[in-house]
Amino acid sequence: MPPLNMSPREILAKLVSFPTVSRDSNLPLIDWVESYLQSHGVESKRVPNEDGSKASLYAVIGPKVPGGVVLSGHTDVVPVDGQDWSSDPWVLEERGGRLYGRGAVDMKGFDALALAAVPLALKAGIKRPLMIALSYDEELGCEGCRGMVEEMAATLPAPEAVIVGEPSMMKVVTGHKGGTAFKVHLKGFEVHSSIMHTGVNAIMEAAKLISWANEKNAENRERVPGPVGAAFVPPWTTVHVGTISGGTAHNITAGDCHMGLDFRVVPGEDLDDWVAAAEAKVAEVRAEMQAVRPEADIVLDRYFTVPPLVPEPGGAAEALMRRLTGDNASHVVSYGTEAGHFQRNGWSAAVCGPGDIDQAHKADEYIEVAQFEAGWAFMQRVVGQLSE
Ligand SMILES: [Zn+2]
Repeated sequence: MPPLNMSPREILAKLVSFPTVSRDSNLPLIDWVESYLQSHGVESKRVPNEDGSKASLYAVIGPKVPGGVVLSGHTDVVPVDGQDWSSDPWVLEERGGRLYGRGAVDMKGFDALALAAVPLALKAGIKRPLMIALSYDEELGCEGCRGMVEEMAATLPAPEAVIVGEPSMMKVVTGHKGGTAFKVHLKGFEVHSSIMHTGVNAIMEAAKLISWANEKNAENRERVPGPVGAAFVPPWTTVHVGTISGGTAHNITAGDCHMGLDFRVVPGEDLDDWVAAAEAKVAEVRAEMQAVRPEADIVLDRYFTVPPLVPEPGGAAEALMRRLTGDNASHVVSYGTEAGHFQRNGWSAAVCGPGDIDQAHKADEYIEVAQFEAGWAFMQRVVGQLSE
């Protein structure tokens, strides 16, 4: 196949044309990326999910030596259901200095720039590798990159930096909170409420968990934040219950109650410690329920975990990105990214990408042309660095 010579914008239009909503397969997009890279003589490696319906993909361009740069992006996008779009979300359209399309800013814009950098890197004869890492399921909780990141860390020479290109207006973001979320199912025991002492009311038991969350929030708020935590808003760990449902009638003890329970953990505190604390509280409430009815239970389903991005003092990724962007301020963000997964595997990581997160996930999602161009200038500097 002759090399596919495409501009960054043409690549973006191509990527946007694949409706890679997280619940659906991303394989058509991955097929295309694979053949694009192949057309430039670059082999890539897929890391599929369990049922083979989705895959991550990574590739190494240039020599396999330490000191390279990883460009990390996700291929999935959030749904457009129920959103009122002014144009087809799957067709990139320019209007008034903006490029509209689902994923334009979050984050196929960065993916397109990374792919456009490949022929540039080949032509420049880079001396250290440029690595591309594209994941799936990021919007479902950053789990889809795990297998790929572990495989890369186990088999490839360590890079100087991992650049996770989530929209940051090309600012260098060195930290975000970690998070994890549970679906909680409390199984009570139904009796007439006149004899409620012989039943287990799942709603009222759930209230104990909610009270615990309130107590933890109050305690966390009182604590003086550590040096790492102080940069965050708020500078403490939060415990949140966002949904609850249960019960059938006013005079029946509730047989079931479903609730959400999630944690946003400030870097410097351990996500696992919070999980352990939640499990201990659940065990306590479960024991109280079972003391009345042994068949009562609480089932926890932990459905996502995003490791925190911990600011690295003197971190290599941060230093490289500051050199390339000229941004010397400190930034942390409220959203989660895949950067923590790389960091967890020992690779220095920070977030820097074109566009504004405010435009993500909405109807008429867009990236400003000026930001897309700033991203392209950044990519050219990355290739320049790798050529030195
Ligand atoms: Zn994103």
